[in-house]
Amino acid sequence: MKPARFDYHAPASVDEAITLLARYGGEAKLLAGGQSLVPLLNFRLSRPAALVDLNRVAGLSYIHEAAGHVRIGAMTRQRAIEFSPVVRRRLPLLAEATTLVGHLPIRSRGTIGGSLAHADPAAEYPTALTALGGQVVVRGPRGERTLEAGELFQGYLTTTLAADEMLVEVRLPAMPDGAGFAFEEFSRRHGDFAIVGIAAIVVGHGGRCASARLVTAGAGPIPVHLRAAEEILEREGLSEAAVEATAHRAAELVDPPSDIHASADYRRNLTRVLTGRALRRAIQTLSPASGERAG
Ligand SMILES: Cc1cc2nc3c(=O)[nH]c(=O)nc-3n(C[C@H](O)[C@H](O)[C@H](O)COP(=O)(O)OP(=O)(O)OC[C@H]3O[C@@H](n4cnc5c(N)ncnc54)[C@H](O)[C@@H]3O)c2cc1C
Repeated sequence: MKPARFDYHAPASVDEAITLLARYGGEAKLLAGGQSLVPLLNFRLSRPAALVDLNRVAGLSYIHEAAGHVRIGAMTRQRAIEFSPVVRRRLPLLAEATTLVGHLPIRSRGTIGGSLAHADPAAEYPTALTALGGQVVVRGPRGERTLEAGELFQGYLTTTLAADEMLVEVRLPAMPDGAGFAFEEFSRRHGDFAIVGIAAIVVGHGGRCASARLVTAGAGPIPVHLRAAEEILEREGLSEAAVEATAHRAAELVDPPSDIHASADYRRNLTRVLTGRALRRAIQTLSPASGERAG
């Protein structure tokens, strides 16, 4: 099938793009890498009056490190993130998550801004943004605002972005030095969207856990932050018994959907198995000094 007819605009600046979005009163769509939008157009599941192509807007593709944060421009390709030395050093969880996004040609076109704005609950970037405690910078006719992950994701493929707003930057605090981390997921074939995924970050020392972060992909309409499971590790430490208890608690905390890919029970079981797997690997990669620095 071919897309329904649409107007096409290729603005040169963010302001021009926002003006175009406002002019179409909610009937225009931004085009970034096109890896999610173009299939939707071809199936006519999306029939916008206009496409506003961001690919000629200068200055939206960058990875900068400053003052303990990494700032990534919305149009930065997933492939650039995968190979960025800054991301590997400061945000190794994001580097690992990126290798799990689709296939090489998809990551060569797909952007971080497009993935977050698309808000697929099974995608890796919404989960990584939540696990890393990041923010997005959004611009529109009423100015700029900064949103935490919990303020951005609203439901299945739904964000709190207004129709005339665009995501311009992603801001992520650098991970603590020596933090253990892992992104574990299960999908039917390599490169498919995850049926369930788990991002884990652990900071600790000598079997103690100073802080833990556990977030799901695919186990609900938005990434689920498993705070009550993290608390078990922070209270009981990083023993195998504590990891097992955390994994069981994680499964109790999710309310996943049943669909053609998997039943809710299967996803709940995957949440338990993958939480355990992600935590064991995160603990293995933990540097002995990380908890001392984290206090
Ligand atoms: C075969 C296949 C397998 C895939 N597998 C995975 C996978 O395993 N994991 C995964 O995470 N993704 C996967 N993807 C999706 C891929 O990661 C997309 O690149 C991503 O979801 C969307 O990014 P994009 O830049 O292509 O955005 P587009 O497709 O251009 O846009 C997606 C949506 O975001 C909006 N948008 C884009 N940029 C902005 C912005 N700056 N501000 C506001 N709104 C914006 C668009 O209007 C549109 O609604 C797969 C895609 C394909 C085709």
